[in-house]
Amino acid sequence: MPETGRRTQAGSAPSDALFDGPKADGRLREPREVLRTVFGHGAFRGEQEAVVEQIVRGGDAVVLFPTGAGKSMCYQVPALCRPGTAIVVSPLIALMRDQVEALRQAGVSAASMNSSMSEEERSAVWRDLVGGKLDLLYVTPERLVGEGFRRTLSQVRIALFAIDEAHCVSAWGHDFRPEYRELARLADDYPDVPRIALTATADPTTRADIVERLRLADAPVFMTSFDRPNIRYAIVERDNPKKQLLAFLQNHKGASGIVYCLSRRKVEETAAWLNEQGLYALPYHAGMESAVKARNQDAFLKDENLCLVATVAFGMGIDKPDVRFVAHLDLPSSVEAYYQETGRAGRDGAPSEAWMAYGLQDVVQRRRMIDEGGSEEAIKRVERGKLDALLGICETAECRRAAILRHFGEAHPGNCGNCDTCLSPVETWDGTEAATKLLAAVYRTGQRYGSGHVIDVLTGKATEKVQRAGHDTLAVFGVGRDIDARTWQSVARQLTAASLLTIDHEAFGALTLPEEARAVFRGERRVTLRKDRARVATQFKRSGGQATDGLDGLSATVFEALRRERTRLSREQKIPPYMVFSDATLRAMAQARPTRPQDLKAIPGVGMAKLERYGEIFLDAIRLAADGEV
Ligand code: ADP
Ligand code: ZN
Repeated sequence: MPETGRRTQAGSAPSDALFDGPKADGRLREPREVLRTVFGHGAFRGEQEAVVEQIVRGGDAVVLFPTGAGKSMCYQVPALCRPGTAIVVSPLIALMRDQVEALRQAGVSAASMNSSMSEEERSAVWRDLVGGKLDLLYVTPERLVGEGFRRTLSQVRIALFAIDEAHCVSAWGHDFRPEYRELARLADDYPDVPRIALTATADPTTRADIVERLRLADAPVFMTSFDRPNIRYAIVERDNPKKQLLAFLQNHKGASGIVYCLSRRKVEETAAWLNEQGLYALPYHAGMESAVKARNQDAFLKDENLCLVATVAFGMGIDKPDVRFVAHLDLPSSVEAYYQETGRAGRDGAPSEAWMAYGLQDVVQRRRMIDEGGSEEAIKRVERGKLDALLGICETAECRRAAILRHFGEAHPGNCGNCDTCLSPVETWDGTEAATKLLAAVYRTGQRYGSGHVIDVLTGKATEKVQRAGHDTLAVFGVGRDIDARTWQSVARQLTAASLLTIDHEAFGALTLPEEARAVFRGERRVTLRKDRARVATQFKRSGGQATDGLDGLSATVFEALRRERTRLSREQKIPPYMVFSDATLRAMAQARPTRPQDLKAIPGVGMAKLERYGEIFLDAIRLAADGEV
């Protein structure tokens, strides 16, 4: 069994004995001190400090924080407090590279070891590792459990093991990585080294899987609220999707974001179309050549105004903190997927927007994907339930945030003030009579027609198809003339979402009546419907999700000046702009407008290394912009 890092006194240790050895530079380090001097953050957020204390003390931990809550600090700070090197397991090379670069920017000795590196690069890392020069080493799970690597590790003092994206261990999620299962052996091989598993996926099944598969049954679980208050949620009825998307993107000029589409073809088409409209857009999907994919992903990280149009193949492991918007042109598969995808916006805490356009066709398509998918019936039932939960959120007249959080078992008082229904409340109407008419029309036409035909019958349109079927002679013909066809589409969509109407894929999308519809016919169940909004994308009085939101005129000017400085510095070093400073840090600078280095240092995100490297440049820029000289 490998010899491992010295055990720190667990449990009863007095706090000054927590830090039992100097790092390579001979200094003893205290967590808050590390947080402040290295990362530039004045205080720990939420549960971070409790996690850090637990790990520094030598204990294990399971950390379930939503995206953007600050999981990295939970192991990066202990890595600098405990003697030895922290080994961080990460599923993707791109993710590792980013983290390492960001750490180096903060003056931390970090490296990664992966298959994309040359032999020389790798032996340099080996040397540093064995020489005790690394504070953090990022590796893939397959490397960590490989024989050679384990032999080397036996000569190394290990500060801790951090298992990032720990949900990859669970076959329940869509990111399953079988190699993660091998990580269970760390518990036996290194019984004295603290292990910390981190994920943003908190559903109970995945959580139980992590605890069991990684053998962390005795580890305390740390959780924070899953709310992402800086993300504005909006879901609109799809009408003219291109026009709606364009209107949405007008609100986010100059910002980076992701537009998700269901199919590869739609990704390509949408990206091409956006470029024709004068926007900067690139496609990304699993069917593209890997060199092109890598190039587009890189552009997304480094450019500040790129709209990346992608399938869900894009996103995992993308830690870009300044994604200002995530748009969905198609309905995701579940609330979990929706939340994970939209959660890629605004990790830096600055205002961001999650926007989706959806319509009846989505419901039809998603239900068909489930029905025609290869899963067993029991799984299909779960999938249908998940889809219905998302539809419920799409059709709610309540606060979206409250509805979403309730799905994750978290209470929220509603009225968040930062979702479409809170910002412009939806009107509801008693749709019982309309529902009864529509269901009757479905019944009278034999449950064999799609919504278009049924609505023609309701609105009394004697089309050729209607006449041929003799439906213009039915009693229901024309009974729905008081409502326009578009509203009838909305009624059909909402009834489908509520499972009061089903769609038969085998019969080419014919509307059929489920058992539940009976209660409506009998007058035992009332139906409340949302009124659809105006035709074009919902425009709020305040625009949403821009990095300068809430800044006064001068602060916004200074922010833009600082942003230009940041762009220049990042281009020079060929790193993404956010690695210089995040939008949140620039906002704070623009508002406080510090004039001296010590004041600049008080801004969140300005640590010692960055103060030295960039301090003067930004102080100058602030002064110039504030004086109105630029
Ligand atoms: P996660 O991995 O949970 O998605 P990250 O670790 O990437 O989140 O952190 C998200 C953002 O929050 C980063 O920009 C980081 O600098 C910032 N952050 C983390 N901890 C703190 C803190 N204690 N104070 C201020 N900002 C923080
Ligand atoms: Zn709300």
